[in-house]
Amino acid sequence: MNDTASTLDRVVREIADEMRQRTDRGEVATYIPELARVDPGAFGLVVVDASGYVAAAGDCDTPFSIQSISKVFTLTLALGKVGDKLWERVGREPSGSPFNSIVQLERERGIPRNPFINAGAIAVTDCILSGHQPREALGEILRFMQFLADDDSITIDNAVAASEQRHGYRNSALANYMKSFGVLDNPVEFTLGVYFHHCAIAMSCRQLAMAGRFLAQFGANPSTGLAVVQRERARRINALMLTCGHYDGSGEFAYRVGLPGKSGVGGGIIANAPGKASIAVWAPGLDASGNSRLGQIALEALSKRLGWSIFGA
Ligand code: GLN
Repeated sequence: MNDTASTLDRVVREIADEMRQRTDRGEVATYIPELARVDPGAFGLVVVDASGYVAAAGDCDTPFSIQSISKVFTLTLALGKVGDKLWERVGREPSGSPFNSIVQLERERGIPRNPFINAGAIAVTDCILSGHQPREALGEILRFMQFLADDDSITIDNAVAASEQRHGYRNSALANYMKSFGVLDNPVEFTLGVYFHHCAIAMSCRQLAMAGRFLAQFGANPSTGLAVVQRERARRINALMLTCGHYDGSGEFAYRVGLPGKSGVGGGIIANAPGKASIAVWAPGLDASGNSRLGQIALEALSKRLGWSIFGA
């Protein structure tokens, strides 16, 4: 193990130990009843550096519900499918509103502000679904995750998907509202079915950090050396993660952590230090914006101790 690897190991272990002792863990999501069953004391952290070295601590191999983290990968797939035409039906501005807000949609004629709020992600899912059966579209998303993480064992937690489907009144409202403006091409129940199921993909921090490597590596998949996306696209996805990845907490995340990141209400966050590392953290308790409380604190500590903020150490 070289010097940088041992520093990385030490910092990751220190942060996991510090987080284990904290009591201010936030609240686990309950609006999807199945998510409320998670252990609020869980914490995992994994960093994969540019050489492929993996530093891991805590519950780093426990699969959890990735929820909105999936939106980064569906955005990547949709851009691959239709390119810049995607921007005809979804914007690229931070919303400053909660992830499930409906208020801007009326004023902006059914065009969601960005691909990471729920409305935007549902529009992105609709784009992936076009020309396919829901089962095929979902298979494509799952296989993409397995390919990026280099792990075929990744699956969908059907209990979580069913739980969200039963209680997804807000997302149904968003989808129906967009449909009324012609922003969705497919039957609302098909699009929502695919959306709920890709949010219910279960992955560990280790699998997520592996899957995020292409964003840290300017579009390349280090396992194959081949491009997952072009360099310019990786840069742009990172820009959207920085500005919109934490909803109405995005400014605060940029201020405190200074890295592109994307959260999910399962308590996971992926982030990356471009050229340096892909990171995944998991702590199920959330803050008022629906972002992992300890996850953000852990990433702030990591970025600070390693001098990784994109704005300078
Ligand atoms: N599936 C969740 C929802 O639509 C995703 C939200 C999130 O992770 N922020 O409400």
